[in-house]
Amino acid sequence: MPKAIIIGAGVAGIASAIRLRIKGYDVQVFESNNHPGGKLSVININGYRFDAGPSLFTMPQYVDELFLLAGKNPRQYFNYTKLEVVCNYFYEDGTMISAFSDQEKLAGEIAAKTSDTTESVNRFLKNSARIYSITNHVFLEKSLHKLSTYLNWNTIKSIFQLGKIDSLRTMALANKSFFNDKRTQQFFNRYATYNGSNPYKAPATLNVIPHLEQHYGAYFPDGGMYAITLSLVKLAEEIGVRFNFSSPVEKIEYSNDKVTGVVVGGKTLPADIIVSNMDVWFTYKRLLRNVIAPEKMLKQERSSSALIFYWGISRQFPVLDLHNIFFSNDYEKEFNSIWQEQTVDEDPTIYVNISSKFKPDDAPPGCENWFVMINVPSNSGQDWDDLIAVSRRHIIAKLSRMLNVNLESLITCEEILDPRSIEEKTSSYQGSLYGTSSNNLFAAFLRHANFSSQIKGLYFAGGSVHPGGGIPLALLSAKIVSDLIN
Ligand code: FAD
Repeated sequence: MPKAIIIGAGVAGIASAIRLRIKGYDVQVFESNNHPGGKLSVININGYRFDAGPSLFTMPQYVDELFLLAGKNPRQYFNYTKLEVVCNYFYEDGTMISAFSDQEKLAGEIAAKTSDTTESVNRFLKNSARIYSITNHVFLEKSLHKLSTYLNWNTIKSIFQLGKIDSLRTMALANKSFFNDKRTQQFFNRYATYNGSNPYKAPATLNVIPHLEQHYGAYFPDGGMYAITLSLVKLAEEIGVRFNFSSPVEKIEYSNDKVTGVVVGGKTLPADIIVSNMDVWFTYKRLLRNVIAPEKMLKQERSSSALIFYWGISRQFPVLDLHNIFFSNDYEKEFNSIWQEQTVDEDPTIYVNISSKFKPDDAPPGCENWFVMINVPSNSGQDWDDLIAVSRRHIIAKLSRMLNVNLESLITCEEILDPRSIEEKTSSYQGSLYGTSSNNLFAAFLRHANFSSQIKGLYFAGGSVHPGGGIPLALLSAKIVSDLIN
């Protein structure tokens, strides 16, 4: 049986392992941490459970697909609930917009709370759907680096329509043309942060993201986000994938430009196929030291990172939902601080995720588990200890003001994750959440391919390579790798 070795048990690593096992490979996964999941993992403190990284679950069909491929019923492993309200948005002027998953209700809500109309929302979402229908075949589901992709009829059709994907203006400019009200513009500009980008720089093609959330929906997995990791590991083990935890890969071995194996704990283990789920930057810098790295690709601007406070909160807030956003007053200034000044704004937009709203045992009775996150630049040596202390004060002041409470007095326990610890825990270069940013027109083409053009048998899957970051795209990268191995 041919042997495949997967480096990393992030979601794309596990998905690659499942796909290759189904193809008949003998598959082993080596993971540095003592647990699977990478960014998609869990933290427990003082009776509170927190999903450590991702909290918004979209495109669940890509998870289900893995169970179906293995001939299993996904619902026997993993279930999820569709959210009626995806997120509550709070503005400093007192406006609160609920992002209903139903398009008619969302349009009605925006028309009721802002000076924009249902027609503008519907026109905008129709445009988002059109961008998706043109781009998904070209940019999401296939390798951009193989000639065969461009010889496919769906791709050719899409290429002829590329003029319609709104790539020549920024997302912020496009959204100004759809909406008059600054609150609606801010609402839709925020979608750029779903892949760690800047709406004032990223092409308006990213307006595809609201379509994915609106049309396909957002979900809460039973058991929380970590259930995605656990159920996929269960499936992988059942079909014969072997996991090795606390086992960092030290080197990728090759000979005559073809992979031969990996080095783990000083020992060489043979492999016919290697899939690196490790950030591609570190794969070159740590595991392939003798290979000439594609520096231009590796130097692409990284996506933003995050500063997260995991807080046990000693009371409940009926006004809050699973996902909540507290907007900054000046969004453009906030993004300037992050991207131009490479620092944290004094009035950051704050995201509060409370999984105990759906899974009450995530917090002790009468309490809530708050995952409080702000967008920050990736790590380029900033004084994070200072930025964390200052941001903590700003966040507590803003949330206390907007919720009319003394928040500090309600925090019973705390853990903090910052760009340095994100890099340390998941080997994500500079702690970026989504690999490289999508802040320019060519970003999609400058992301690393899913295969090595120098070493046969070496593949790459995960948020740092094509088609990009976020759980759905990381899962698609595993599908592309598996298709390439055909
Ligand atoms: P990663 O999760 O990056 O895992 C890579 C794994 O490889 C790690 O386990 C690491 O330990 C291991 N590894 C590295 N080097 C080695 C080595 N040498 N040997 C062995 N193992 C190694 N996405 C969403 O869809 N929705 C969200 O709401 C969302 N929010 C996010 C919030 C935060 C705070 C973060 C951090 C991310 C968020 N994301 C979100 C992004 C999403 O988590 C990632 O895109 C996705 O989980 C990346 O998966 P991956 O397969 O690329 O691997």
